Amino acid sequence: MSTDRLAAELSGIPGLEVKAGEPLARYTSFKVGGPADCFVEAHTKTGLGACLELLARRAAPVLLLGNGSNMLVSDRGVRGAVLRLRGEFRRVRWLGDGARVGAACAVSRLVREAVRRGLGGLEFAEGIPGSVGGSLVMNAGAYGSEMERVVTRVEAFTTAGAPLALGRDELHFAYRETRLPAGAVVTRVDLALTPDAPAVAETRMREIMARRRASQPSGRPNFGSVFRNPPGDHAGRLIEAAGLKGLRVGRAEVSRRHANFIQNLGGARAEDVWRLIEQVRGAVESRFAVTLQPEVRFVGEWPR
Ligand SMILES: Cc1cc2nc3c(=O)[nH]c(=O)nc-3n(C[C@H](O)[C@H](O)[C@H](O)COP(=O)(O)OP(=O)(O)OC[C@H]3O[C@@H](n4cnc5c(N)ncnc54)[C@H](O)[C@@H]3O)c2cc1C
Repeated sequence: MSTDRLAAELSGIPGLEVKAGEPLARYTSFKVGGPADCFVEAHTKTGLGACLELLARRAAPVLLLGNGSNMLVSDRGVRGAVLRLRGEFRRVRWLGDGARVGAACAVSRLVREAVRRGLGGLEFAEGIPGSVGGSLVMNAGAYGSEMERVVTRVEAFTTAGAPLALGRDELHFAYRETRLPAGAVVTRVDLALTPDAPAVAETRMREIMARRRASQPSGRPNFGSVFRNPPGDHAGRLIEAAGLKGLRVGRAEVSRRHANFIQNLGGARAEDVWRLIEQVRGAVESRFAVTLQPEVRFVGEWPR
């Protein structure tokens, strides 16, 4: 089916905003990425269910985009539909010691509201620029904690648009990933937090922000850590020891501040970043016999 026809069919579903050929660089923290055939923003659960059901019937590939802060989207863009959740998926309902959080809620907003309410447990996530859905899928973590510690239940849709509820035991958390049923679209995440004095939680949050500022680059687009830490070591240490700080391909550069970050110096192409990642992997492998695994997710069409 042609992109225009698919976009027209999707546009007929209430609760969706549909654009054909939308450049994804606008929606990624690295500021690169070519066009999505069909870019769909879903504002309501009913609209999202109908959208997924139609996409399944048309056998169109689907990619979920959160805040795009852990993705490298190819310059050629993404075929099929790219879905982004908005509207009612941003809502947060506070319930005593916990919260029911829409997948599109920004983690930064959630952390600050929790701290203000005297609920601890999320301070580790201060400074993570993701959405709650993306952070659940990545099991985002920092400074000794991760999403796994606070998540109790998840609501999602299957690829065919059927509702799905997953309890803690059905969420297979691992290091920087949560194994969900293939293609599941997370719509809501339930959290259990710990009552704490707001001033104490705020101090903890500020300490984490200060540690982050002291060690990580800022001011240039990036996607956080490029590689997962190999067991018992740090990817940044290995990259630095291989003398790769400052290495460039085109306008993409290995940060001089923290070697596990790649920055967009302005005008980088996804292919530059991809080649730089390959060079770093190759150099670390030949020097230390360690194969680094990317934490960032490669999305779209890539050269062979
Ligand atoms: C400056 C900076 C600092 C960072 N610091 C950290 C850090 O300390 N710790 C850390 O773990 N990460 C960090 N990151 C990486 C990133 O912010 C996290 O991985 C974040 O949780 C990703 O969320 P996102 O919404 O941007 O997801 P995206 O990048 O949009 O997507 C990530 C994955 O989740 C999938 N996805 C997104 N939403 C949904 C959904 N609703 N349903 C199903 N699948 C979905 C996507 O398809 C993709 O596979 C950092 C990034 C930056 C730029």
